[in-house]
Amino acid sequence: MTQQTTATDPVCGMTVDVEQATTSGLTAEHNGQTYYFCGKGCKLEFGDDPEKYFDPSYTPSM
Ligand SMILES: [Zn+2]
Repeated sequence: MTQQTTATDPVCGMTVDVEQATTSGLTAEHNGQTYYFCGKGCKLEFGDDPEKYFDPSYTPSM
């Protein structure tokens, strides 16, 4: 397998199907990396304050 098929939602920690997220537009780019989300809510939260989710003290939760 050469293609990544799942990714972790940085907001809630859920495993996300990359293809499905891409099809649904649930992706965001930050610092040249693409992130995938389980839903619109997480994408919007990430967009509000992406840096928050890269803080090592942040623990993803639903
Ligand atoms: Zn999520």
